[in-house]
Amino acid sequence: MSRKKIVAGNWKMNQNLFEGKQLIQDILSCSTEPGANVQVIIAPPFTQLALAASQLKDRSGFFLAAQNCHQEKSGAYTGEIAAGMLKSLDVSYVIIGHSERRQYFNESNQLLAQKTDAVLAEGMQVIFCVGEPLEIRDQEQQNDYVKTQITEGLFHLSKDAFQHVIIAYEPIWAIGTGRTATTEQAQDMHAFIRSVVAGHYDAATADQLSILYGGSCNPANAEALFACPDVDGGLIGGASLKAKDFCSIIAAR
Ligand code: PEP
Repeated sequence: MSRKKIVAGNWKMNQNLFEGKQLIQDILSCSTEPGANVQVIIAPPFTQLALAASQLKDRSGFFLAAQNCHQEKSGAYTGEIAAGMLKSLDVSYVIIGHSERRQYFNESNQLLAQKTDAVLAEGMQVIFCVGEPLEIRDQEQQNDYVKTQITEGLFHLSKDAFQHVIIAYEPIWAIGTGRTATTEQAQDMHAFIRSVVAGHYDAATADQLSILYGGSCNPANAEALFACPDVDGGLIGGASLKAKDFCSIIAAR
């Protein structure tokens, strides 16, 4: 079976309940049903998940993601959300290790490995984000940097468990900046990630892995990025908040 093609929208800390309800309605009315082997994933804030689940129910090809979760199953962690709570809301995916979580909440690869385990233990899938800051790219150290993120965050997983992971490559210098990686930069890194996975597991596992590109992806550049052989779709921030743009990006897949 060929690997899944995915367009995922990360709303971050945007949209109140009513705005979010409208946005999902608009996305559902402007996008055609995703083709076979294509998935559209929407990652709204926690506060939107229950309502979004009811809106996406029975819409084939659409799935719900959370933007984060806590690594423990339950307990005295005021303000936190456990993976099992997300599972009970019909969440299928959890984004782990977004660069904003790494940067503003000091999430280390070791912590992200624990969060990954918590998500997989609940039978959900992980969208694991990696990507280098600008100074690392300028020093041409991006491959080593991303390899370390993957090794420390994911390579404790068994081959079976790894089948439930998607990797999103999001160079930090491209997130929310309007500066997109070139198709060559994206393809080179995605091919590198696949080779790292093949080296640790095997070629078949690497071949099945969906690798998404994220960073200022928009209707004008999506088609060229998604045409790269190792780019299996996108993780979309800003453009996922505009139904028309998000639908154009879905169509580019
Ligand atoms: C993101 O934060 O995951 C992202 C890709 O953002 P943007 O599309 O706005 O660059």
